[in-house]
Amino acid sequence: MILQEKRKSVVLKGVGVSPGVAIGPAFLLDRHRVRIYRRPIDESEIDGEKERFVKAVSEAEDQISRLIAEIPDELKKQAGIFRSHLSMLKDPMVYDRTLRLISEEKVNAEWALNEALEHVGMLFDQIKDEYIKKRIEDLEYVVQRVQELISGHDSMDLSQITEPVVLVAHDLSPADTVRMNKENILGLVTYTGSRTSHTAILARAMGIPAVVGLEDVPLSILTDETIIVDGLSGEVVVAPDDKLLGHYREKQESYILYRLDVVHHSKLPAETRDGFRLKIKANMELLEEIPSVISQGADGVGLFRTEFLYLARKEFPTEEILFQTYKEVAERLSPHPVTIRTLDIGGDKFASSISLNNEDNPALGLRAIRLCLKKPGLFRTQLRAILKASALGNIKILFPLISGKLEIIQVKEHLEQTKEDLRKEKIPFDEDIKLGIMIEVPTAVFVADALAAEVDFFSIGTNDLIQYSLAIDRVNEHVAHLYEPLHPAVLRMINTTITAAHEAGIEAAICGEMAGEPMYLPVLLGMGLDELSMNAIAIPKIKRIIRQADQGQCAVLTRDLLEISTARDIRTHLLDFLTSNFQEEFDPSHGIYPDFAGAGV
Ligand code: PEP
Ligand code: MG
Repeated sequence: MILQEKRKSVVLKGVGVSPGVAIGPAFLLDRHRVRIYRRPIDESEIDGEKERFVKAVSEAEDQISRLIAEIPDELKKQAGIFRSHLSMLKDPMVYDRTLRLISEEKVNAEWALNEALEHVGMLFDQIKDEYIKKRIEDLEYVVQRVQELISGHDSMDLSQITEPVVLVAHDLSPADTVRMNKENILGLVTYTGSRTSHTAILARAMGIPAVVGLEDVPLSILTDETIIVDGLSGEVVVAPDDKLLGHYREKQESYILYRLDVVHHSKLPAETRDGFRLKIKANMELLEEIPSVISQGADGVGLFRTEFLYLARKEFPTEEILFQTYKEVAERLSPHPVTIRTLDIGGDKFASSISLNNEDNPALGLRAIRLCLKKPGLFRTQLRAILKASALGNIKILFPLISGKLEIIQVKEHLEQTKEDLRKEKIPFDEDIKLGIMIEVPTAVFVADALAAEVDFFSIGTNDLIQYSLAIDRVNEHVAHLYEPLHPAVLRMINTTITAAHEAGIEAAICGEMAGEPMYLPVLLGMGLDELSMNAIAIPKIKRIIRQADQGQCAVLTRDLLEISTARDIRTHLLDFLTSNFQEEFDPSHGIYPDFAGAGV
């Protein structure tokens, strides 16, 4: 017998999207990909070919409907993904186009379907929004199912997995992710994907360590070979030697212990050692995120971005679609509050349902509240849906990109008129619904006192506030290095806004990315903020740091930092503070942190 020589260990790099370390035998999901050939057909075959396609679509519909019915209770909340798959099956861009291509080009159904998909792919390529871009993966999955059904193949069933494994796949469909027996999935590795792909969202929701966007998966990993997935660093180790195994086992144990402690903190109130308490909420956009928002211990949703319903379709979503979505979020999070932000489209987020002028400078163009005020019909439909949902849960309403008082006055007129309409129609809503504005345009900071008199709360959008104050296009990678939350002007603007809110007796929150980054937490605590809203997964860690912090000490730190005139010196001072007070929290084995080097401005 020839003993096979043990392979040399290989370390691959991808993007860690769900934290934790998994070690186990690899299971390669070698899904059969249907090969598509072009076959010219005769006039007489057209109807038959169309029928093959229509039949396959209807079978796919049955399969997906059955799948929805089969979803285990604990994952019922994920059914929305499959419902959207159902609607994609009949999307005219694919369905009608395929039928048209069959008769116009006289080609077989498989080829026509593939052509239709490629056409949609080209359209999606032009979209900048990463989330929307990723929806093409869902469409590809749906088309793949139909292709399999046309050609009589069926894809491999994940129920084959009966032992604990690390699942390695080119890609995973949401159906795969929901169907697989979670007990047997130690970790996930996919060749494609990003932080916003469904695999990532669901892996986080199910607490399975995952790395996506890994190149060379099919070449370098063999079934049953031991594999390590480090969802923290994004590393995948194939055939680890004893030294690597020892290292990652230690990391795995330390992460498990750390997480137990962190999660324990997530259920505790966000209160500092000296009794300062603030609310820690989650930012969310998709219904799939709700389980994670709840399990990570959020005190509600501080920012519900509502763009996705508009971006994903060719027509405006109806009032009923909007209402059902808002109602679902409010009911599932009840009694916690949900802050629904009105449409923030334009800028870097475009919707085919809304024709915008071709603007040279969209970040400074007709986006967010400006667009809504220009299109009252669009705005009022959303306001009606939000108000109607407010009768069924704890909803607040938030208006983006406010730059001055007259805008708020106009917004309030629309809101009042919408309320009046509902009263006339005897439709219930929360008469006391709280209304807030995002502070994300520098002018709003300088008139914050006047704005505070008009609203019930402020929510500071640091992503845009930094973009507009430092004049850095947030989607332009050439200036990304200049993005600097610690710029003295940025810190002063945040501080001014909070002070103005408190002087007017209203609350101030931060919902930009800065809120979930542990490094900035002491500075924000020191400013006496009332609420932080962040991606759900960041919550336990932030709560844990808050519980170790002393707000009085942070206030002294912040006062000192506000006196410093460069981001570089602010950073040095802050890092000294972090290392002397929270050394363990900034250990790289516990999370991923923003660049400690900073922009140097
Ligand atoms: C922000 O600008 O900080 C914010 C939270 O809004 P968005 O990222 O959706 O523009
Ligand atoms: Mg913004």
